[in-house]
Amino acid sequence: MSDNAMDAIVIGAGHNGLACAAYLARGGLKVRVLERRSVIGGAVLTEEFHPGYRNSVFSYLVSLLDRDVMADLELEKHGLTLLHRPGGSLSLLPGDHMYLPRDTQQAQEAIARFSKADAQAYPAFEAMLEDMGELVRGVAKDIPPNFGGGWSDIWRLIQQANAFRRLSPERQIELSELMTMSIGDVLDRWFESDPIKGLYGFEGIIGNYATAYTPGTAYVLLHHVFGEIDGRTGAWAYAKGGMGAITQAMASYCESLGVEILTDAGVAEVVVNNGKTSGVVLEDGRRFSAGIVASNTHPKVLFGQLIDVTHTPPAFQQRIAGYQSESATFRMNVALSELPRFASVDHDERGLAAMQNTIDICPSLAYMNQAYDDAKEQGWANKPVISMCIPTLLDDSLAPQGCHVMSLFCQHFRRHLPDGQSWDEVKEQVADTVIDTVSAYSPNFREAIMGRQINSPLDIERKLNMLGGDIFHGKLSLNQIFSLRPVGGYADHRMPVEGVYLCGSGAHPGGGVSGIPGKNAASVILKDRKRGAI
Ligand SMILES: Cc1cc2nc3c(=O)[nH]c(=O)nc-3n(C[C@H](O)[C@H](O)[C@H](O)COP(=O)(O)OP(=O)(O)OC[C@H]3O[C@@H](n4cnc5c(N)ncnc54)[C@H](O)[C@@H]3O)c2cc1C
Repeated sequence: MSDNAMDAIVIGAGHNGLACAAYLARGGLKVRVLERRSVIGGAVLTEEFHPGYRNSVFSYLVSLLDRDVMADLELEKHGLTLLHRPGGSLSLLPGDHMYLPRDTQQAQEAIARFSKADAQAYPAFEAMLEDMGELVRGVAKDIPPNFGGGWSDIWRLIQQANAFRRLSPERQIELSELMTMSIGDVLDRWFESDPIKGLYGFEGIIGNYATAYTPGTAYVLLHHVFGEIDGRTGAWAYAKGGMGAITQAMASYCESLGVEILTDAGVAEVVVNNGKTSGVVLEDGRRFSAGIVASNTHPKVLFGQLIDVTHTPPAFQQRIAGYQSESATFRMNVALSELPRFASVDHDERGLAAMQNTIDICPSLAYMNQAYDDAKEQGWANKPVISMCIPTLLDDSLAPQGCHVMSLFCQHFRRHLPDGQSWDEVKEQVADTVIDTVSAYSPNFREAIMGRQINSPLDIERKLNMLGGDIFHGKLSLNQIFSLRPVGGYADHRMPVEGVYLCGSGAHPGGGVSGIPGKNAASVILKDRKRGAI
């Protein structure tokens, strides 16, 4: 190896790679980050997608970002501002809408138009979700107990069991149900009307190719409520200037500690000799040596593309081969000459406050299931489930005055299409389907579009090396979370090659813009180094 050696190499400058690098540098290590793209940020990126119009390209909302990561990495000092939304959610319905503001009584009045019983059940359901969100947050922050681990793993298991014990018996049962049931079965128990079931049901299939009745989808809802903004569990915010502001702030902090970040530096191989790493080889032939390699990549990129799996034990090889990845997510941005009008949502104070939140098209669980069935048959939903955000209602830095940008996050769109079709051939036509779907709720939408950016599942895979276009680096199914992520026996970030660690979303607690896998991987690396294991 011919370079000036560093203590540690981080493969990938996604937000978790940057968080890992930052904590390693805080721990006194010399760190080099190698990113294959010409931009840093991974799925946490802002781009100009139409002249004068910028927006988050992939992820578009913040909630899960760990408070400690924000504080330790001084993200606000390095330029990050979170823009708080009024809260609540707006669900579009054929010729109608349901807006649930933060005020419980007003939300109940909105629900009562569809079902008085559901309006009554709503506060208890929200309270239950809030309690669960707080518990899951604690679990998400910690490294899970590892199978075959030592006393520290047993201690973590006891601590987590103790948090569970502190819940009331009713909450213990509810949590066990939420961890195992489908979102549809949970919602059918609580509610009777379609709009509220559609609203919560969507949370179970975000980035998750599943029906409302697929077991485990209720956990995906929990995964989306463990965050907090300003002490409000489950709230979501915008990053001013788009999500790229988060990774730019992380990179700025890293650089202040002397971390070297190289772009256009795709890693082709992690060098392994006698079960130990000694560095990496880049796609362009450059070599960098280090005894520590932390990988921010999808686990199957690390084991498959960068490291020959034959360097790992047979049981690991078998499990990693079966690791599942598919989100069925299609992501668009549009540049708008004016604000869209949605049926029966006035552009008055109340209507505009509603539109500052997430605007969903998911009127019922049956609608969700039809989207799944269509995708199973032809590769994409004829009427997709869509989550829309208009950040320009709160952020004037993204578009010319009076104009807007909108993010559209859409389900279900399969990574692999039937009959040998390629996303490159059909994505424009499929984007038209998305626009048709929104236009059915918004008469001026199509006319207002001045430019659009499309990221099909193939684009997501190709641009970010997210296999299967999986936005979480692997499904959040029950066999791929907690101590089983990425596979049993390797949940503590230590991979089966000495000196190699997983620091991306393929590690616990999984995908989402949290920074937790990066932070926790760094803590394990620093511990191993302190005890002389690497
Ligand atoms: C369309 C979409 C919408 C989403 N919406 C939200 C949202 O609103 N809120 C939220 O919290 N989460 C959202 N998510 C999920 C979240 O953004 C991701 O789970 C998370 O950002 C992944 O972060 P990461 O750092 O683990 O990995 P990544 O962001 O995937 O970063 C990995 C990095 O490694 C690089 N890399 C890969 N291979 C190599 C190699 N061989 N050599 C060098 N570098 C390599 C990649 O280029 C990339 O930069 C969304 C994701 C997507 C894709």
